[in-house]
Order: sequence, then C-alpha cells, then structure tokens
Amino acid sequence: MKMLEHLFKNNQEWAEQIKAEDPRFFEKLSLQQAPEYLWIGCSDSRVPANQLTGLLPGDVFVHRNVANLVVHTDFNCLSVVQYAVEVLKVKHIIICGHYGCGGVKAAMHNQELGLIDNWLRNIKDIYYKHQEALQAITDEQVREDYMCELNVVEQVANLCHTTIVQNAWKQGQPLSVHGWVYGIKDGRLHDLDVCVNGFEQIPDVYRIFRKRILGENS
Ligand SMILES: [Zn+2]
Repeated sequence: MKMLEHLFKNNQEWAEQIKAEDPRFFEKLSLQQAPEYLWIGCSDSRVPANQLTGLLPGDVFVHRNVANLVVHTDFNCLSVVQYAVEVLKVKHIIICGHYGCGGVKAAMHNQELGLIDNWLRNIKDIYYKHQEALQAITDEQVREDYMCELNVVEQVANLCHTTIVQNAWKQGQPLSVHGWVYGIKDGRLHDLDVCVNGFEQIPDVYRIFRKRILGENS
C-alpha cells in the first residue's frame, strides 16, 4: 500500500494546474533558478514563505529554523546565505518572524525542553538584553508579541554583521536586509521598518573593514 497517497494526488493536481497556465513552467525552471529573495523564517507550519507572499517555485530561496534565528556558528544558515548572496545574487533578504512563535515563547520561560534549550538560549540573550522594557509590559500577550518583534530586529543585525553580507556591500552589490513579522491570526505581514542596506547603518565595532584613518587605506 502506498503511504501518504493523498499527498501524491495533491502534487499531481498542483503540477497539472501550473502546467495548464504555463505548459513550459517546470521545463524553464529546471534550467536555472534566479530568485530575487532569500527568506529566513520560522519552521512553524503556519508560516509558509511561498504561499503567504503569493510567490511561485523559483521566486524565493528559503531557509527555516526554529524561531528564525541567524546564529554566527550555524553553518547551515550561513551556507544558505552565502549561496543566496554570492551565487544567486538575491537582492533582498527577508527575516520573517511571527506572532505566537512557540520558540520565542519557550525562551521566555524556564521549562526544560531538552536539546532545543541550547538553541533557544540565543533568544534568552535577547530577552536579557531588553528585559527592562519587556518586564514593563504587563499584558503577557503584548509582551510576547514584542519579544517576537525584538527577535527579528536582532536577527537582522546578526545577518548584517556577517562577512557574507558585508562583502556583498563592499563589492557594491545591491542587497537589503528586511525584518518582518507575520500574524498567524490574520495572515498579514508587517514590516518592522528596520531595513539595512549598507555599512553606515551598522555599529562600527561590527564592521569587518577598517575605516580610513588619516588617509590610511582600509
Ligand atoms: Zn515560530
């Protein structure tokens, strides 16, 4: 007996539907991919990059992990970013968090969950950094939502501090990093307005190229 037969049936219908609109769609895509966007989002099943942005296969390169983190020692994420920036030459990287994120919520509490606690530690650091502002919010839901937003803002910064993004800027490659949050209750995307597209927007200490000092070449 074939397992998960309904998924294969869905797939057949989906492929036929696309071919009905554009008979050469898959043939053209098989030759190359040239997405303009890299999406770094949460693994949460309710936040599918392509569907919620109305993008087709080939339009967006995707990396997802628990709570949409960009961790400097995560070679999985960094490899995706490097390929997307250096080979595919994406113009936009979107870090998209979402309200009601289980990973963010878990990081705000002290329950032991196992291996994932080591991953969530990265979010606890953000909470600790902003704990005064967070603890001043009495409504738990509002506090959690704010933490989801703060997490995205921090990941945008983490991404901009990588050698990959900074090398692209150094070479004059147009590249913008965006921070968005998705509302799972209403299906709407919110722009956190933290777009970064050059060195001048990141703190000096994180820049990997030395500033010119008294005419010295960097
Ligand atoms: Zn999540």
